[in-house]
Amino acid sequence: MPQYDVDLFVIGAGSGGVRASRVAAAHGAKVAVAEEYRVGGTCVIRGCVPKKLLVYGAHFAEDLADARRFGWNVPDCGFDWTVLRDNVLEEVKRIEGVYGETLANNKVELIKERAIVTGPHGVRLAGGREVTAKYILIATGATPDVPECPGHEHGFTSNEAFDLDEVPRRIVIAGAGYIANEFAGIFHQFGSHVTLVNRTDVILRGYDEQIRDRLLQIATMKGITFKFHAAFEKVEKQDDGSLLVHVSGGHEPIACDALMFATGRRPLTAGLGLESAGITLDDRGAIPVDEDSKTGCDSIYAVGDVTNRVQLTPVAIREGQAFADTLFGNKPHRVNYDCIPSAVFSHPPLAGVGLTEAQAKNKFGSVRTYTSDFRAMKNVLAGRHERSLYKLVVHSETDVVLGIHMIGPDAPEILQAAAIAVKAGLTKQDFDDTVALHPSMAEELVLMR
Ligand code: NDP
Repeated sequence: MPQYDVDLFVIGAGSGGVRASRVAAAHGAKVAVAEEYRVGGTCVIRGCVPKKLLVYGAHFAEDLADARRFGWNVPDCGFDWTVLRDNVLEEVKRIEGVYGETLANNKVELIKERAIVTGPHGVRLAGGREVTAKYILIATGATPDVPECPGHEHGFTSNEAFDLDEVPRRIVIAGAGYIANEFAGIFHQFGSHVTLVNRTDVILRGYDEQIRDRLLQIATMKGITFKFHAAFEKVEKQDDGSLLVHVSGGHEPIACDALMFATGRRPLTAGLGLESAGITLDDRGAIPVDEDSKTGCDSIYAVGDVTNRVQLTPVAIREGQAFADTLFGNKPHRVNYDCIPSAVFSHPPLAGVGLTEAQAKNKFGSVRTYTSDFRAMKNVLAGRHERSLYKLVVHSETDVVLGIHMIGPDAPEILQAAAIAVKAGLTKQDFDDTVALHPSMAEELVLMR
């Protein structure tokens, strides 16, 4: 008789949990995964996937207008939010199904119930069933963090943004990070008046300053309003259903029809029973883990946002893969967190990999930087004045490219390829030696002198 019901019990069927489950099962482990909501997790159900589809949808606002400059006879076009919303929700359902099939094909038992830890090898399901496991993997992700203030319940978060009945005429977005800037672009293109409110005057903390400044400039030019040094004081619901948002910093109260909080995400660990296995959380509620994603308890591991290492889907997937290969595949390896590329699907999008200029200066003293500040050819003909900005940060002595930062059309697509060069430690001379692909925006990367 086996000592445990399963070899691996995974809590959470998001990006990290699904990858770990199916890879462990493919290595021959008996695996069960519990999911209290929907298979696919934040990325598939209410994050990256539906967000990107809304970004595509939003882009048509400018594309249709620009088409006229390219000779197309475009009649005045109306936009129907409910058509896009329902098509996006349908696509999300399809991908959720594919995830479920992948688990089934790999003979992973999917349990659609909440599960909590009862000890180093024990899990209890909401329905009362107890399961024992040789190893437990926590992959419960994160959830939006909403600042406490009277009336905050009148707002919604990215969890609800995909189900709205209509596009709000005026929306206040709280926060100035990834989600705030992405949804500011989306709602703006759908015709909302967007006011982005942040407690500091920094948008997209962590990205290169010049690139962030360029987004701020372009977004302001497009008509998005920014209020800085404005902490939430209270939100009042008016008789007509609209909201009045009171913020600090001497700003007038802001009247709006909807309020969206995008003020960070906290690890989803509340009530998980981790104390029963002797696991203590950090001050953000995250599960501390070592380089193999092992918690303080030898039989319990954690991957993805719940560990608050890097809150990005591809990182959670790598962590799940490394965990499963190491424990069940006899192929030990660890995730390398250097040079992780990332992007913000704002309007226009921005992307970066490696060190920003400020980080590189802190680390190496002086560095060389190269920039290309240009108008994309398509924007020139379309009569759009927004300029793209590409930047290389280069080590003064070794000539190694330490970071690439860019804002402009298709920046994430271009940066993904360029990130290989930074990860590989290529030099500025290698970039210079590469012949330009003309005419393209990406050629600017090899033409900076
Ligand atoms: P971010 O961490 O990107 O930004 C949070 C914003 O909220 C910051 O502007 C921050 O201000 C502000 N803030 C934080 N706490 C408070 C508070 N208590 N009161 C008022 N303002 C506050 O979080 P998001 O919610 O935008 O996204 C969560 C995570 O999800 C991201 O960090 C990212 O890892 C991931 N994500 C990735 C995407 C992508 O890859 N394209 C897209 C969406 C999300 P300040 O900086 O001034 O302190």
